[in-house]
Amino acid sequence: MLIPTKKTSEKKVDKIIGFWEKIYLSLVGKISIAKTFVYSQFAYLSTVITFTADFISEMEKKLSKFCNTNVKIGTEKVFQEVSTGGLGLFKLLDYTDSIRTSFFRRSINNKDQWAQAINNCRSVYNNEHFIEDEHLKSYFPASYRLLQTFIKFTNAYYMFRGNEGWNYVYNNPRIADRNQALSPPPGHTEGHPYTLHKLMIRDLVNNNNTLKTLGTLNTEQNTSITLTEYNKIKRATNKIRTIYKKGEEAKNEGINRLLNPKKKGSRPFRRILEKKKEKLTKNLTPTRTREKKFNFTHDPTTEKRLYSLWSSSFLNNEIRTFLFKAANNMIKLNVHISKFKPEQSELCKSCLMTGTPVREDFQHFYFDCPIIQGLLKSSKKIFREDFKNEPKSFLINNTGNNATNYEKIIAGIMCYIIFTHRNKHNNKTTQMNYEFRKIILSSCAASNYFNSQTSRFIQRELDPF
Ligand SMILES: [Zn+2]
Repeated sequence: MLIPTKKTSEKKVDKIIGFWEKIYLSLVGKISIAKTFVYSQFAYLSTVITFTADFISEMEKKLSKFCNTNVKIGTEKVFQEVSTGGLGLFKLLDYTDSIRTSFFRRSINNKDQWAQAINNCRSVYNNEHFIEDEHLKSYFPASYRLLQTFIKFTNAYYMFRGNEGWNYVYNNPRIADRNQALSPPPGHTEGHPYTLHKLMIRDLVNNNNTLKTLGTLNTEQNTSITLTEYNKIKRATNKIRTIYKKGEEAKNEGINRLLNPKKKGSRPFRRILEKKKEKLTKNLTPTRTREKKFNFTHDPTTEKRLYSLWSSSFLNNEIRTFLFKAANNMIKLNVHISKFKPEQSELCKSCLMTGTPVREDFQHFYFDCPIIQGLLKSSKKIFREDFKNEPKSFLINNTGNNATNYEKIIAGIMCYIIFTHRNKHNNKTTQMNYEFRKIILSSCAASNYFNSQTSRFIQRELDPF
């Protein structure tokens, strides 16, 4: 039997990256390859061994280098959240820790020796707590390390936004007695996340099967369910409350199962471990060029929407790459391209055809070019309702920009088409309209959301340009 080791998985990673590097992949394509083929190399191993910091940093360098072939993103952005301008690849330590936590949760009650060793360390006072036992450390090092990861996760969980309110004193690792968080006294329900999950459907409904009000629930159950949590319960139990109206069995169904549909894998854990390091929305700023050219006060929340735009999975990879680059000011216009491609003129092709030689730079492309402005103006006619913002304004994120996500996507597609066709000679408009129609059709086929929004807001029979 071949036992995978760090060395073999490193070799495998090199092989995978070496192969895919030769193919010209879009940015989005590279992310998919990294997530599907590279990260999975570490998944199996990470349940049994802990990677050293050196190994992790080496692997992250490889991932970052791979994403940066043919494009300059920067290591910092590769591992940053999508909504704050990053590519959204995960830090390897968070990923392996999450895999371990998921593994721990799935198999802690199995009959494996490692699990039994850990289970023997449960606190007799509080079954949910494990004592970090010296015996465990020296005799069952693998179990010990798994337990360490689990405790690391638990700590992060209680610090997580929305969970912290549950634990002012009890189960709060920051208020601990000899490294052990204080357990709540018997009968104490407020503040423990488990309370919520132990509720049954019958606890939630009135005699006529309607959901009790939040106030009633909290008083009756001695809980402190928040409005967000209440709305979650409302949605999760909606079907079961109507369909199984008279079934007593359904009333005994715990809401735990409804609130947490079968979650597999490491994602929910990763979200919590990563959150600690997340860049905050309130610190979001536009790129320097955008800040300089668009003269107004930027708003971090709309800025966040622009940065996340490229992660719309129903768009094709080229558009998604374009949207990422546009938000991060990485779009190369003719002034840039002419520097390393001598056959490319630095002038704006559209203006040149009308006899005016002008350099095509950021200012010209987004603001000054009369041809592009004309195209953008014309494109507005396909909207059933008046488009609140200029299509080009998807780059402008001032407080006044209340464009919906859909409007921003359409504007992004329009900018993409104008950008990719700007140096074409003949039949430009026909080609652009054809391309627009093609993109809309394929995105509608890929997403119900996009399809319904398109039917609602766009007159499909009209050509935008
Ligand atoms: Zn022009």
